Amino acid sequence: MNEILNLELNDMAQTEFDCSCGRHHNFTIHDIAIGKGTISQLPKMAAPFKDGKILMVFDNNTYKAAGEQAVNLMKDAGFNVKELLFDRGTDILIPDESVVGRILQEQDMDTSLMIAVGSGSVNDSVKYVSSRTKVPYIIVGTAPSMDGYVSDGAPLMCNGYKISFPAKLAYGVIGDTDIMKKAPMDLIQAGFGDVVGKITALADWDLAVKVKGDYRCDTCVTLVQRALDECFAKAPGLKTRDDDATQALIEALTMTGVAMGLINISRPASGAEHMLSHYWEMDYVARGVNPIHHGLQVGVATPIIAEFFEEMADLLPEGTGELCPKRTEIEALLASAGAPVSPKDVGISKDLFYNSLLKGYTVRPRYSVMEYAKEKGRLDAIAQKITNRVYA
Ligand SMILES: [Zn+2]
Ligand SMILES: [Zn+2]
Repeated sequence: MNEILNLELNDMAQTEFDCSCGRHHNFTIHDIAIGKGTISQLPKMAAPFKDGKILMVFDNNTYKAAGEQAVNLMKDAGFNVKELLFDRGTDILIPDESVVGRILQEQDMDTSLMIAVGSGSVNDSVKYVSSRTKVPYIIVGTAPSMDGYVSDGAPLMCNGYKISFPAKLAYGVIGDTDIMKKAPMDLIQAGFGDVVGKITALADWDLAVKVKGDYRCDTCVTLVQRALDECFAKAPGLKTRDDDATQALIEALTMTGVAMGLINISRPASGAEHMLSHYWEMDYVARGVNPIHHGLQVGVATPIIAEFFEEMADLLPEGTGELCPKRTEIEALLASAGAPVSPKDVGISKDLFYNSLLKGYTVRPRYSVMEYAKEKGRLDAIAQKITNRVYA
């Protein structure tokens, strides 16, 4: 039982077991290859699909980062490759109807596999098309920027709005540290911020278990917690693009995805810190402004949620408060990796910030410390106090 705790991340693909939480878990990804030089494993991973055509998708940035190399590896190994390059010049690729439509148009009747080279938009778009057409895909990551490699949602723009469509997990995941450590520094910091957010996500989950009787899987908590500890211990190395630090970051992001994949809920990945981030993002979108990277927002939201836990300390169930470090400790952790620390650092205005503290809990129906504060009649006072401190 729970042998998964003894497995290395790369060996967790296709794991199936009866868990101590009472459920049977089944993790459907076929192959995970994280580490130095793992892009060379791409042809081997794709081998079962060699009879058909391979559609490879990238944008101009990800083509330079890994796409060209991936195409050459596949061609040298004798695959029938078709390339789709989204060239947006210096603009970022927005995963909207036109991008999804183009991928669909380039998918031929005999396409047996798609390979997405990228991290955000390319991954989400290919993931979506893959789950609708049932043509499997492999993701070759180019930046350790978020935990979406191994998640069952595809956030896309739809008629001007961002919608997270349900989607299927990738067939295989390649996270080559040699490639990902060269990603733009703000993407590395964003990935780190998303990982830091798991601290309050786990604390919120514990609160929901104890106050609302929510389901919990201790195996998943252990898996994520171990990956976090490893990543946080090595965080200072991210500033110098250290191999070990990059690998620990990719593993933490991937492990969160594995945990979500095992239990089919996103509790291990997202709590109140993500609600603040979504609230801010919706405001950016409504104003027609490009939001900043998801993980940077999540990162600066995390100490704020830690402050909620501090303010609610006298009312928390036994053991919950201990799961969340102090606000100042989380701020120091973010700073150790060179990541932004305060909502002010990422351009969140005082009004938006205050409103997000008051209404953030309504973003999605998920119990968190913000809703707990509301129930206990303390939300207004806490929102006022934190806003005054941050924007003093
Ligand atoms: Zn996230
Ligand atoms: Zn379990």
